[in-house]
Amino acid sequence: MSFRSYMEIALEEARAAAARGEVPVGAVVVSPEGEIVGRGGNRTREDNDPTAHAEIVALRQACAALGLERLPGYDLYVTLEPCPMCAAAMSNARIRRLYYGAEDPKSGGVAHGAKVFSHAQCHHAPEVYDGIAAVEAEALLKNFFAARR
Ligand SMILES: [Zn+2]
Repeated sequence: MSFRSYMEIALEEARAAAARGEVPVGAVVVSPEGEIVGRGGNRTREDNDPTAHAEIVALRQACAALGLERLPGYDLYVTLEPCPMCAAAMSNARIRRLYYGAEDPKSGGVAHGAKVFSHAQCHHAPEVYDGIAAVEAEALLKNFFAARR
């Protein structure tokens, strides 16, 4: 599978999140062998959990399934630029590469705001690839928020 098809699965998770009334963001964690070991969408409302962002949901699922506290060599795909909390979680998990879709100038913490991976205190920074399927990811978010107004 290519990076594009992993992002397709993240987009599926984002659509499923929208269907549950959650902000449509989806994420998948991929093993060094190319296997999907964790996937999820935002669940903050459903779980009454402010930390249940798509990335955290996918990371928790992957770590639980593998019995690992860190995921060196694993990649994470997410439809939206991660917030500072999720960026820090990826750093702690030693994620190898981060692929994300849409930019998030308002709440992002990678290219915007806190820029978590650029700090000297950040002990591990993944390689970052942005703009993957960004048009689809952005359209999902725009439609979701337009429907709520
Ligand atoms: Zn987040």
